Amino acid sequence: MCPPHDDQNRDFLEQYASVTGSAVIQHLEQLAAPLRGARVVHVNSTREGGGVAEILQKLIPLKRALGIDASWEVINGSPAFYECTKSFHNALQGMHIKIPRNLLSAYEQTNEQGAEQLRDVLAQADFVFIHDPQPAALLSHFPERRGKWIWRCHIDARHPYRTVWKYLRPWLAAYDASIFSLPEFAQPLPHPQYIIAPSIDPLSEKNRALPTADIEAVYGQFGIDPERPMVLQVSRYDRFKDPLGVIQAFNLAAKLTPLQLVLAGGGASDDPEGQAILQEVQQAAEGHPDIHVLLLPSDAHRTINALQRAADIVIQKSIREGFGLTVTEGMWKGKPVIGGDTGGIRLQVFNHYTGFLVRTPEGAALRMRYLLHRTHLRQQMGERARQFVMDNFLITRHLREYLTLLVGLQG
Ligand code: UDP
Repeated sequence: MCPPHDDQNRDFLEQYASVTGSAVIQHLEQLAAPLRGARVVHVNSTREGGGVAEILQKLIPLKRALGIDASWEVINGSPAFYECTKSFHNALQGMHIKIPRNLLSAYEQTNEQGAEQLRDVLAQADFVFIHDPQPAALLSHFPERRGKWIWRCHIDARHPYRTVWKYLRPWLAAYDASIFSLPEFAQPLPHPQYIIAPSIDPLSEKNRALPTADIEAVYGQFGIDPERPMVLQVSRYDRFKDPLGVIQAFNLAAKLTPLQLVLAGGGASDDPEGQAILQEVQQAAEGHPDIHVLLLPSDAHRTINALQRAADIVIQKSIREGFGLTVTEGMWKGKPVIGGDTGGIRLQVFNHYTGFLVRTPEGAALRMRYLLHRTHLRQQMGERARQFVMDNFLITRHLREYLTLLVGLQG
């Protein structure tokens, strides 16, 4: 049913106007007018954990407030399905992995079952957004589709492992369009490809302003010394986030500068590798009182917000990164970010301007020390970083681009 475009929605949108200015919201309303009542379904494979869930939690209510009949569906699979899709993820990010036939069968079966469960909602949709490879094979079960189907890739797919790409490509080629976060990630596919960067919601628990007492509370909660500087990486425990590289960088920097490191992460329900990586991280941090490895519940948004605000420097030393919402989140809190020189981090961290791009633990250590000795520069970079997010990476810009795309596809 079409959501009402009533006073409640107006109040909801007004809150965004208080951050972005009302012209931005009026523009969104104009763009959404021809889409009013359109059925837009997003599908991914987890409701919590990771950047995709983070974005969908915010995008759906905003679309609905603009009068679009937006909804969010999730497909659930067996452990073999998640093992397979994690391998897809790793392979799209360049890892050479052989995926056994039984895992591919689990993938195909889960998509077949998902198609049956979601048949009505997907068959009636005007637009279907399929996020990442997990639900990508759903489309093959709708040979006479009514709406437009769009594959949204959030992964750093610059150099996908060819064998896995060859398997996935036929599913993907059938879509009406695809979206990537960066031009370099686009792939030879026989349909229009669009570039849309992700975004953060400035009003969410993760990003809204917090009272000082809430920020200070995290020191006591996690045994962090408020008197010494703190560097923070927030991430799922994933190899591509390079948590071991962060510990190495910390060990080098802490030899010369008093410093604490917080690694804060949790699992995503569609990520089966997290536990093993967490154990490696815990081992590497063992016996070091100034390294705090936190395993947070998936709804710890306020705690992450407070940690990001309490940090002196935010680090995201990924070696592959589709975008890196944690970078945007840190920048929004006025922090300089030391980011891995890869993928979407390059779109956000401008070397020497909003932070530093690094390739090695040694480079990260050098930049930690450099920044920690320069309070004014940290502040200056942090202010530029916040403004950069305001101008480029808020959800209102993201929504504007989605609406433009939908109006275009509507024909
Ligand atoms: N996140 C979280 N809890 C965690 C780890 C991450 O809420 O324990 C959030 C983080 O704040 C960010 C998102 O999950 O909003 C991660 O998005 P990003 O693009 O950085 O990485 P992804 O996990 O999608 O690869």
